[in-house]
Amino acid sequence: MTEADRIQCVRCGREDAPALPSPPFRNDLGERIRREICRTCWEEWKQRQMLLINHYGLNLQEADARQFLLVNLRSFLFGEGPDGAPIDTSQEGDVSW
Ligand SMILES: [Zn+2]
Repeated sequence: MTEADRIQCVRCGREDAPALPSPPFRNDLGERIRREICRTCWEEWKQRQMLLINHYGLNLQEADARQFLLVNLRSFLFGEGPDGAPIDTSQEGDVSW
């Protein structure tokens, strides 16, 4: 596949949307994102992920933190599983989990 590949994005419904240049993960999920999620939606997820990491003080060395992000990723991109964790900016610095 080349960088110019087009896909139909399952998240925003756009047809002929630009695919990611390469799978973001080296596993089935990464391949699926490459096939089903457009670049714009992936960028939105990266913003969201950064907010989650900052908001919840995630340490990505920890398996629990990575699992937490995966659950949120599936919810955010594919609408699967439980709802993503809320980010209530009015509660900044006052959230525990
Ligand atoms: Zn999209």
